[in-house]
Amino acid sequence: MSGPDVIVIGGGVSGLSVAWRLAQAGISVEVWEQAERPGGKIVTRHEQGYVTEQAASVMMDARAEAAHLCTAAGLDAEKVMCPSPERVHRYMAQNGRLMPFPLRFAALVSSPVWSLRGRLRLLAEPLVPKGGHPGESVSEFIVRRLGREALERAFEPFVAGPLASDPDHASAEAVLPRLVALERRYGSLGLGICTHKFLHGRSAPLRDAFSFRMGMATLIGSLARAPGVCFRPRHTVGQVEPAQTGWRVSGTTPSGERVVRVRHLVVSVPAPAAAKLLRPLDRELADLLRGIDYASLAVVHLGFDRCAVRHPLNGTGFLVPRREGRQITGSQWISSMFPGRTPAGKVLLTSYLGGARAPETRDWDDDRCVGAVTDSLRPLLGIRGTPDKVWVDRHERGLPLYHGAYPGRIRAIAQHLGRWPGLHLAANYWGGISIRDRVTCGYALAQQIAAALQQPKAFELTHPGLCYGVVNMT
Ligand SMILES: Cc1cc2nc3c(=O)[nH]c(=O)nc-3n(C[C@H](O)[C@H](O)[C@H](O)COP(=O)(O)OP(=O)(O)OC[C@H]3O[C@@H](n4cnc5c(N)ncnc54)[C@H](O)[C@@H]3O)c2cc1C
Repeated sequence: MSGPDVIVIGGGVSGLSVAWRLAQAGISVEVWEQAERPGGKIVTRHEQGYVTEQAASVMMDARAEAAHLCTAAGLDAEKVMCPSPERVHRYMAQNGRLMPFPLRFAALVSSPVWSLRGRLRLLAEPLVPKGGHPGESVSEFIVRRLGREALERAFEPFVAGPLASDPDHASAEAVLPRLVALERRYGSLGLGICTHKFLHGRSAPLRDAFSFRMGMATLIGSLARAPGVCFRPRHTVGQVEPAQTGWRVSGTTPSGERVVRVRHLVVSVPAPAAAKLLRPLDRELADLLRGIDYASLAVVHLGFDRCAVRHPLNGTGFLVPRREGRQITGSQWISSMFPGRTPAGKVLLTSYLGGARAPETRDWDDDRCVGAVTDSLRPLLGIRGTPDKVWVDRHERGLPLYHGAYPGRIRAIAQHLGRWPGLHLAANYWGGISIRDRVTCGYALAQQIAAALQQPKAFELTHPGLCYGVVNMT
């Protein structure tokens, strides 16, 4: 019955990141995953010469932890970089056309995406007095500081696309923590950015986006197979209970019911599954978890002959503001982002439908999703004919929505957890949805567990420069 020091329930990228980091420090850890394979939502498909991702397609290395993990896991040689924002365009749909959308502040302000009034409003930002309230939404925050045009033409599509969220409901503090902090500290976003540039002698580098030669499955495989990580497929945890000096975990496994006792337990499953496991233990904690809403998403991958698409596809893709009235929130030009994702002479476009903006797409069948995507892409990219290959991936509970009084909910969850020593939560409803954030949170939690097991030195030796501050989604 006695088990490893730590059991991680759930073998998605959140759970694997904690387990990998613990194993690096020599702490014994098992990952119990109900599915046959590791990765959770992250699955790479190789079919008919195309490489498609069912969920995450890019990773950012704006945090030290993400870069450190790739290097320490021996993945640097497998990395394929997305062309940098300085070299290729990011586009935004505007009035039925695609407009380049620069990410550097100075270039962005002078871009033709703004009306004269909208540009003047952006430039007036430093004159806007500090304000806001604790429960402020992204929309309220952005309109107050930068004006409605900035919300509609820039922030709404960024929140609706990559986060599948709705800026009218998303918490500014949870989704834009750095911007909120800049206002609090300097009274203005513009002033804060300039001060930062002056103090550090340069502007913040644009983030590097990357994947791996064989797709995101490379990262997952490398974490799950790392020395010291004992990955247990087809292990479904049914019950967790406090036990003397730790936790008792029971579940069904291919060889029958198994019960183990561990010192630390990491629950790394989506919030509704965590609520179900923890309800017998702490009803209020379970209710807080159950109250987290999720957005459903459909991911539609279309392969075309290169000559069927008139647009040069000289970028990474585009986002679609709500006011454009299209069904999709955005599209990534995967074949322009990474080499080797299509057979010769083909292009691969991956588009996203649904999220908080269009929850009705949850009930659409695949044909309707493909039709909606093709209708949206055709006029924007000058597409002739029908796609050569089609894949549709559905995520019923795709992404957690950081809506409403989210920071308060997370603080309450943390307070409840404080009553259960040795119990930890690690999943994308807490600390950010991106792989980069999952890795950062995994590092921080592993360090906390190591400290409790009195092995913190292991981390100091491997990576002294890490900072374990508040993790977030921007
Ligand atoms: C369509 C889409 C596109 C995305 N694109 C990007 C992107 O480009 N870049 C990026 O950085 N991020 C992206 N993301 C976000 C990122 O992929 C997710 O946030 C992340 O993969 C979630 O990982 P997780 O481990 O928290 O959860 P999951 O992947 O959901 O893993 C949870 C695991 O727990 C297991 N489990 C549940 N219950 C039990 C139980 N009782 N016992 C044992 N196991 C159990 C499940 O089987 C699952 O494997 C995207 C997400 C989606 C949906």
